[in-house]
Amino acid sequence: MLLLPTSPMRQSLFRWMPFSSFSTVNVKGGPYNFVDGHKTDSMDSNGFTNVLNPATSKRLAKIAVSGVSDVDMAVKSSKKAYDSWSMLSGFERGKLVSQLGHKILKNLEALAHLEVENNGKPIWEARLDIQSCADCFLYFGGIASTISGKHIQLPNSSFGLVKRESLGVVGGIGAWNYPLQTCSWKVAPALACGNTMVYKPSELTPLTALALAELATEAGIPRGVFNIVQGSGETGKHLCCHPDVAKISFTGSVQTGKNILKLAADDLKRVTLELGGKNPLIIYDDCDLTNAVKGALLANFLSQGQVCSNGSRVFVQRSIVDRFTDEFVKATTQLAIGDPLDNKTQVGATVSKTHAEKVLAYIKQGVGEAPVQLCGGERVHMPKPFQNGYFISPCILTNCHDEMTAVREEIFGPVATILPFDTEEEVIHRANQTPYGLSAGIFTNDLRKAHRTSNRLQSGTIWVNNFNVTPVELPFGGFKQSGIGVECSTEAIQCYTQLKSTYIEMNDIDCPLYNTQ
Ligand code: NDP
Repeated sequence: MLLLPTSPMRQSLFRWMPFSSFSTVNVKGGPYNFVDGHKTDSMDSNGFTNVLNPATSKRLAKIAVSGVSDVDMAVKSSKKAYDSWSMLSGFERGKLVSQLGHKILKNLEALAHLEVENNGKPIWEARLDIQSCADCFLYFGGIASTISGKHIQLPNSSFGLVKRESLGVVGGIGAWNYPLQTCSWKVAPALACGNTMVYKPSELTPLTALALAELATEAGIPRGVFNIVQGSGETGKHLCCHPDVAKISFTGSVQTGKNILKLAADDLKRVTLELGGKNPLIIYDDCDLTNAVKGALLANFLSQGQVCSNGSRVFVQRSIVDRFTDEFVKATTQLAIGDPLDNKTQVGATVSKTHAEKVLAYIKQGVGEAPVQLCGGERVHMPKPFQNGYFISPCILTNCHDEMTAVREEIFGPVATILPFDTEEEVIHRANQTPYGLSAGIFTNDLRKAHRTSNRLQSGTIWVNNFNVTPVELPFGGFKQSGIGVECSTEAIQCYTQLKSTYIEMNDIDCPLYNTQ
């Protein structure tokens, strides 16, 4: 998921918007669970996790890994709240969901700062992320009153009612790369549809979701409608196995998604799975080269490359591969790496030491498989207070081939691989040679070629002449092993509701089995 909520022109405006500095966000001191309208301590924690600022490695918080009783208490609270929340009209719920969107806007600067401290991404990106969260609550708040069913006329005045009903308590589990956005993309539609939610953030980035729960209470959302349990994968498992949870909405890696699907299968819980990808970006030789370079930057180096929809397999038509590569390398080496809270910074810190080491290992292995490392791919040592942060310079590998590990596997870091191609037929075939299908990009000035290519790419989202733009109005979800279900758009409503058919008989029953007369 990501990412940019709107078109680049509006994004650059956002960069200079004077956001309000007023804030009610204050979550760093704990407690870190949020149940029944209050921050609460864990009752049966299985140890603790140190939450670090990735740019400095300084500790921001020490959170308990919630156990079975914590999850159970949160689910009980959400189950109780469901009785009255689901009975409100869509309009009544929508007003409260929209109110939360306004609260987010009011606290945008504070939430963006908190996200940067906890995730390491540059502040301008965090502001866009938080803006997209507000968009999501305003969008689903706005459409809550339009969620409706059908009346179907049947013979002799009998009729059917098809009601669209909420599911119950939804369990949400999120990743660390877009912490508040991942959470908002689940909470907003789930609540608008009349469900309640227990959400478990990633243990690396637990803070902004907690702030969201506080703002939800301020916005007037009744207690228990949105609860938070902090913890590790084990805590997530408890949520997946809880018998009173009707659905799991998950964002994370493909492997964890498969594990969750198995857990959910035990009692046939519904699932939405937003998983990883290894996405193609196709650059035809008739494109606008500057836009293609900009697109390649957006496709690879937002959020330190930690973006599920990134287009890291950069297919470039052979006649322009040298020109494109020169321009792409030039733009990449000019990216400003540094203090994520500095407005001038374009590349911040990788989320953790473990993840940075994994990314660097992929680059080392990739170079061992023949490519030429044109730029980046090194740990950047920063002056105090960032000397213990994990900053990686954006990396471009060329001379790549489709079988390389770095081309086949999701690195989830700032690593672009350049893959030359000759024909349209060839590139479409190669682009689809992956078990994943989250997103793809096409740069061309030939509209017919763009549509032909888009029609044949096996991906849930295709960007033509842009990349990583995700307006809330469009569905976002994966094909193949990149997921099940979608987030955003009116289509998300299907994922958080179920249909109930009621047949209304208006006449005496004509029953061939009734023999008494
Ligand atoms: P993980 O799959 O490791 O973790 C995701 C969440 O699941 C975390 O909250 C984690 O807890 C929890 N978890 C781990 N194991 C289990 C389990 N067995 N049962 C229940 N919950 C569990 O992913 P990452 O956090 O590392 O995120 C990166 C991945 O997410 C990438 O593959 C990326 O592509 C994908 N992603 C997909 C998006 C999309 O919209 N398609 C958007 C963003 C990311 P904890 O972290 O506390 O251990």
